[in-house]
Amino acid sequence: MTLHINTPLIESLSVGRGLSAKVWLKMEALQPCGSFKARGVGYACEQYIKEGAKALVSSSGGNAGLAVAYSGRCLGVPVTVVVPKTTKPRAIELIEQEGAQVIVHGDIWQQAHDHAMTLTNAEAAYIHPFDDPYLWHGHASIVDEIAAQGVTPDAIVLSVGGGGLLSGVIAGLKRHGWQEVPVIAVETEGAASLAASATAGKHVAIDAITSVATSLGATIVAERAFELLSEQPVVNHVVTDLEAVNSCRRFLADHRLLVEPACGASLAAVYGECAALQDKQNIVVIVCGGVGASVEQLQAWGEQLSDNG
Ligand SMILES: *Cc1c(COP(=O)(O)O)cnc(C)c1O
Repeated sequence: MTLHINTPLIESLSVGRGLSAKVWLKMEALQPCGSFKARGVGYACEQYIKEGAKALVSSSGGNAGLAVAYSGRCLGVPVTVVVPKTTKPRAIELIEQEGAQVIVHGDIWQQAHDHAMTLTNAEAAYIHPFDDPYLWHGHASIVDEIAAQGVTPDAIVLSVGGGGLLSGVIAGLKRHGWQEVPVIAVETEGAASLAASATAGKHVAIDAITSVATSLGATIVAERAFELLSEQPVVNHVVTDLEAVNSCRRFLADHRLLVEPACGASLAAVYGECAALQDKQNIVVIVCGGVGASVEQLQAWGEQLSDNG
């Protein structure tokens, strides 16, 4: 038994209509907590409990916090999620619905995080949103499933926040002998910390997050994600917020599924022009999902961003 489910891998004629390749969607949006985080977070929670943890702590008001709350409920251990005051009521409601205790603390994430750390001890494990080998191990199961589903990808498209998904997927590609397969690592302008490190040739932070794709909002990626740039062909691809939001809206029309701009970013690489995808035959897009957007919010972002542009 795992806390995540095996997700469908479906061919999408509508997402792939601008390309000669077959485009396959790995439907992580269908995970019980709404994103791929169920895989890595679920596995990490199980491991820490095996090692003696009796409670779990998170400092994410987003999909990572929700995944910890979900995992704690399934595993029967209490969960505390510390979130900053900026967290939307809907996000708090979803975390509380999983039975977790939400503590609102601080004006920014760093203050919530610092408070979460004071709650962490030998019996209460902190679950990091992207920088933990257990997490990458869990995320790597996406690639095991793709292989078992009979598709041999010649490109993988995924979104990058702190690089946990990237690190896990590359670990999975390596163990299937797919270390030549390029990974298109997509970020939005204003959250492009991996692209900044790639350009600088060293592990650097960006000054601030200005993108609406808040799930991609890590000012610096995990060190492992940066190292992997020299171990696997990784193509950095940066889209605008408007492209990400419009891709969510187009995807909703095409597949009747609502995803966050963080996921829309990956879809934008396929809907739009991405040179690295031109000569491919089987492109797998990780539809990473996310619970943080409503139809009304997507429409409001769309209008706001087109006015500014
Ligand atoms: C967490 C998350 C990301 C980014 O994943 P990282 O492992 O931080 O790179 C992208 N999309 C969604 C929906 C997420 O929840």
